[in-house]
Amino acid sequence: MIEFRDVTKKYPDGTVAVDELNLTVEAGTITVFVGPSGCGKTTSLRMVNRMIDPSAGEVLIDGEDVRKSDPALLRRGIGYVIQQAGLFPHRTVLDNVATVPLLSGWTKAKARTRAAELLETVGLPAEMGKRFPAQLSGGQQQRVGVARALAADPPILLMDEPFSAVDPVVREGLQDELLRLQGELDKTIVFVTHDIDEAVRLGEKVAVFRQGGVLAQYDAPAEILAR
Ligand code: ADP
Ligand code: ADP
Repeated sequence: MIEFRDVTKKYPDGTVAVDELNLTVEAGTITVFVGPSGCGKTTSLRMVNRMIDPSAGEVLIDGEDVRKSDPALLRRGIGYVIQQAGLFPHRTVLDNVATVPLLSGWTKAKARTRAAELLETVGLPAEMGKRFPAQLSGGQQQRVGVARALAADPPILLMDEPFSAVDPVVREGLQDELLRLQGELDKTIVFVTHDIDEAVRLGEKVAVFRQGGVLAQYDAPAEILAR
């Protein structure tokens, strides 16, 4: 479980991006943060893996303040997927995914075997592993990004507009894949989007953001549609 308790983030230039946010993300759910651009979704997400620390308040994972954890250790338990997959351009797709287990001390052979399994998990044919990221479509690159985020088998997955840069048809395929994956993996997923349709499609829980905080929380997407 992830909890935001009275969390405020004020940037050095005085912008209050998040203003006394209180929010609970239940374990084993896909919780969507939805809202217009600039309302503090990314800032909130990044306070979970300590890319950003709050100015006030605290973020807790399973009751423990994340600021008590070493950022590198903390991030081993938290997969992170962003809009531009952020792959290493000079490494093959397979090695992009194998990097994470390698860093955890796995042998090269074991890491590559694991990476190949993960490519299959996200629905990429094995031969794509030999390509370089630029030789993949945008949608395929995002799949690799998801595979890499899953490589350390983290209980938590943070996804920041992961599918926003791909065309609508590919996006639907990726959404279906994520729902299928979640059925097997049962992660705690926080998914940021500005797209209400995507929020309704993916969210088991939905937090609607407005400037600086949460406007409303819904347990089921149907509740949003009823509005
Ligand atoms: P969202 O993810 O909902 O688009 P962000 O969390 O990225 O929102 O941004 C929230 C607000 O904080 C915006 O007004 C944005 O311009 C501002 N902001 C984001 N990053 C910084 C920064 N490094 N310095 C100053 N202001 C920032
Ligand atoms: P998408 O709709 O997923 O963005 P694209 O139209 O970008 O798909 O790509 C379609 C197909 O072409 C994909 O199977 C992809 O692997 C292949 N492809 C795209 N760019 C390259 C490239 N530079 N070299 C080799 N194959 C590519």
